Amino acid sequence: MDMKLIVTLFAFIFGASWGSFLYTFIIRYMSGMYGNNAFHALTYPSHCPHCKEKIQPVYLIPVLGYLLSKGKCSACGHPISFLYPVSEITCGCIAIATIYIFNWPLVPVYFLAITTSICIAIIDYRTMEIPDLLPAIIFLLGVILCLVEGYWFLHIQGLVLMLVVFVVPLIFVKGGFGGGDVKFAGAIGFFLGLHVTIVALEIALVTGALYGIVYAVYKSKTLKTHIPFGPFLTLGFIIAIVYGEDIIQLYYSLL
Ligand SMILES: [Zn+2]
Repeated sequence: MDMKLIVTLFAFIFGASWGSFLYTFIIRYMSGMYGNNAFHALTYPSHCPHCKEKIQPVYLIPVLGYLLSKGKCSACGHPISFLYPVSEITCGCIAIATIYIFNWPLVPVYFLAITTSICIAIIDYRTMEIPDLLPAIIFLLGVILCLVEGYWFLHIQGLVLMLVVFVVPLIFVKGGFGGGDVKFAGAIGFFLGLHVTIVALEIALVTGALYGIVYAVYKSKTLKTHIPFGPFLTLGFIIAIVYGEDIIQLYYSLL
C-alpha cells in the first residue's frame, strides 16, 4: 500500500479515537461527574447511560462500533447519540488535515490545541463555563512550541495582550467576560504569539459582537445579555492557527 495512504489512515484512526474520548469527556463534564470526582470520571469505563451496562470493547471502536451496534445499546436497545460518530469522524478529519498542513514534529501539538479548543467551545456554549484543565492544556502546548521553536518573548507578548484586553473589561464592566474567557484568551495568546494573536482576537471580537447584536435583535433582549464567548475565541484561534500568517501577509501587502 502507498505510504501516504497508510499515514492518512492511521491519522484518521488516531483522531477518531481521540474524538470518542473527547465526546465522553464533554458528556461527563456536563453531567457534573467531574465536580464530584475528576479521577473517577476520567477512568470510569464507558457504559450505557440508560441501563448502566458496560459497553463491550468491540462497540468502542470509533465509528465502526456505532455502525455494528446500529446506534443502540447492545444490552437494552436504548439509542446511542449520533454525536459520538460525528465527533469521531470530525476529529479523524482534523487529524488528517493537521498532518498535511503542519510540519511533522508539531503535528500532535496543533492537533491537540485545535481539538481542545473545540471542546472548550462546546462546553462553554452548553454550560457557560470553561473547565480550567482545558485552557491549561493549550497553555502547556504553547510551552512545547516555545521549547521547540524559541521565540519565548513573542509568546509572552501574546499572553500579555490577551490579558490586557480581557482583564480590563472584567474589572470595569459588570457582566462582561467571564473568568474562564480570560484564562482561555490568555492561553490562546501564549500559544499563538503576538502577531497571530491579533488575528485571532479580531476574528473573535468581530464575530462575537455580530452574534451579540443578532441575538439581541432576534430575542429582543438588551445588548447586556450574556453570551458565551468561548466559541468565538475558538473560531478565531483555529482560523489564526491555519491562516494567521497568510492574513498578516495580506494585511501588509494592502498597506
Ligand atoms: Zn443500555
